[in-house]
Amino acid sequence: MAAPTEDSLSAFKSKLRGKLVTPKDPGYDDARKVYNAMIDKHPRLIAQCMDVADVMQCVSFARDHNLLLAIRGGGHNAGGLGVADDALVVDLSGIKYTRVDPAGRTVTVGGGCLWGDVDHATHGFGMATPSGVLSTTGVGGLTLGGGIGHLTRKCGLTIDNLLSAEVVLADGRFVKASADENPDLFWALRGGGGNFGVVTAFTFRLHPISTPYAGPILYDIAETASVMKWYREFMSAAPDDLNGFFAFLVVPPGPPFPEHLHMKKMCAVVWAYTGDSAKAEQVFKPIRDFKKPALDLAGPIPHPALQSMFDPLYPPGLQWYWRADFFNDLSDKAIEQHVRFGNELPSMLSLMHMYPIDGAAGRVGKTDTAWNYRGSRFAVVICGVDPDPANNDKIISWCKSYHDALHPYSAGGAYVNFMMEEGQERVKASYGDNYNRLAAIKAKYDPNNLFRVNQNIKPAAAA
Ligand SMILES: Cc1cc2nc3c(=O)[nH]c(=O)nc-3n(C[C@H](O)[C@H](O)[C@H](O)COP(=O)(O)OP(=O)(O)OC[C@H]3O[C@@H](n4cnc5c(N)ncnc54)[C@H](O)[C@@H]3O)c2cc1C
Repeated sequence: MAAPTEDSLSAFKSKLRGKLVTPKDPGYDDARKVYNAMIDKHPRLIAQCMDVADVMQCVSFARDHNLLLAIRGGGHNAGGLGVADDALVVDLSGIKYTRVDPAGRTVTVGGGCLWGDVDHATHGFGMATPSGVLSTTGVGGLTLGGGIGHLTRKCGLTIDNLLSAEVVLADGRFVKASADENPDLFWALRGGGGNFGVVTAFTFRLHPISTPYAGPILYDIAETASVMKWYREFMSAAPDDLNGFFAFLVVPPGPPFPEHLHMKKMCAVVWAYTGDSAKAEQVFKPIRDFKKPALDLAGPIPHPALQSMFDPLYPPGLQWYWRADFFNDLSDKAIEQHVRFGNELPSMLSLMHMYPIDGAAGRVGKTDTAWNYRGSRFAVVICGVDPDPANNDKIISWCKSYHDALHPYSAGGAYVNFMMEEGQERVKASYGDNYNRLAAIKAKYDPNNLFRVNQNIKPAAAA
């Protein structure tokens, strides 16, 4: 395994259809940037792949020259796992296409698509597949980690709607993974992250979802305890058609928010109802009867508009610090901690989101996919966010203290897509009982751990 030489590098470059960016190139600083500006990594090479053949070249080159390999989908990962120091970055953003099969109700998308690309393509046919709550997130990372969003309770996680994937493996082979082809790989891809290969295409099931009745309903922060207790009971009896995640926020100083609420700390539930539209007002009646909110922005909205509602608030280039956990319930003791830290939100963009993961997602078996926390009720994420690195100490310390105070009430592990680099024990806790099976599949498909810039599953030692 020789280190790359000038000759081997130029041979590699000549085999790529996409551009190979090096630290000497003027575009290098832009090409190495990821969504979270707290991440500042300096890769050795960035291959802006245009097709599967480019990806195969990259995998072989990294393997044969003992180079660290990082895979970049949308570049949104909390811990910046789409890039790494001294690595060859396989940048998939040029592999961007969508193909809807309206009769078969599926969409096939290139490995470098963002969710906005997919929503745009499928909405034209009056359909959607579950993703997250921002349109700028990459399909690759979000899907491989699980995928929680507005459609979780109705349609399941994103992985529950994944029908097949096309994958470049560590040995350079190109394979398909589905229920019928390489089913062990297909099982591992559904939650196991980028540990098993580079996914160059995903095929998802589509649902007839076009115009949900959705949006945030805001309450004064002083109402947190009563809203949380009501939310806990209400959600346990809510139909799958109704999703609602709880949030802490600071009201942005601009439309559509009325001036008297600007910059106020508030709590909210961000609703999304995807059942019969004629029944929407009826479904929202108990929500509106519960308490007069400070602001009610729920109403009919095209699905892509719902998916991109928060994009303008959270452009790339902000400082982000993340912590997360799964919860089996929302206890009164946990609520006390939420009340405390919600009141101490350290900046306008910092947040806590509590996503329900019951409904359709909760009915999938714990061992049916690699995603272990089926049966838990909530995935909580706490993010300290600010544009100014000078405030990093403040947002990090709030995020860590909030997490430390809440963690004792959690189910133990966290959703891998909401984690930063937090060590092997945290990765194991996130996969629970499924970890050993994942490690065995890793040993089969990637025995030398070529794909290790991720929440890493170590290959099981040979017996
Ligand atoms: C503002 C914001 C909002 C978010 N909202 C949600 C949400 O609502 N729901 C949710 O579930 N998650 C959400 N996330 C988390 C998101 O799912 C993860 O950050 C995810 O890793 C992003 O995927 P990406 O492709 O953009 O990331 P990248 O940084 O490009 O990659 C992340 C990881 O996935 C691997 N990877 C990416 N693409 C591929 C591929 N094609 N093949 C193999 N490996 C690949 C990478 O190697 C890396 O380890 C959000 C993140 C942010 C920053």
